[in-house]
Amino acid sequence: MRLILIGPPGVGKGTQSALLSSRLGVFPLSSGEIFRKEIEAQTDLGRLANSYIKHGELVPNGVTIEMMAKRLREPEVRKKGFILDGFPRTTRQADALDEILEEMDLPLSGVVSLEAPEELIVRRLSGRMGCTQCGAIYHSINKPPRREGFCDVCNSPIVVRSDDQPETIRERLRIFKETTAPVVEHYQAKSMLTRVDSTQDPEEVYAAILNALK
Ligand code: AMP
Repeated sequence: MRLILIGPPGVGKGTQSALLSSRLGVFPLSSGEIFRKEIEAQTDLGRLANSYIKHGELVPNGVTIEMMAKRLREPEVRKKGFILDGFPRTTRQADALDEILEEMDLPLSGVVSLEAPEELIVRRLSGRMGCTQCGAIYHSINKPPRREGFCDVCNSPIVVRSDDQPETIRERLRIFKETTAPVVEHYQAKSMLTRVDSTQDPEEVYAAILNALK
């Protein structure tokens, strides 16, 4: 499977990517998660990325494309397939991805646009917490961890992302509408897009994604 999940922040891309990768053994490739690991490791790329991410802005196309191209070329990704979550986020990234996949002779299985109303997204993002180690996602009201502050899966600390603050959330949603919505059109024009209602329960969304890929 070679899948792209597109959608605004908080729509459930991370949750679905985790379900798909753990159940089907497909390699998860989340650009946001890769940036967060670089920030944690205090690399040059991490420092550069953080100066944009903390304001809810996009990291420049050049470095983002280079970083994702490197991951896509890893042998394990070719072997297992991939779920792209958070990339491409601009039409320039979508064009670059088309070229990379064509050069590697790896056609996409599909592109899924996860959709939900903005009020619901803001509500979801406002209580969101993530595991610092395995990336599992929790919510203070909808899905609290069994032990407060620690991951159910791997027992590592869970934290609120620094870019999940109200003003940053609004900026990220604005950028999504302005810059990422055209990426949905990019794939629609290629007849590759399926829209999935992401207000449903995660298991229903999961089933709808698999159905879309049949
Ligand atoms: P995410 O975890 O997908 O919400 O990404 C967190 C942040 O990382 C975003 O708000 C951006 O600042 C940055 N980021 C992630 N993916 C990309 C991308 N494809 N292009 C540019 N910036 C990105």
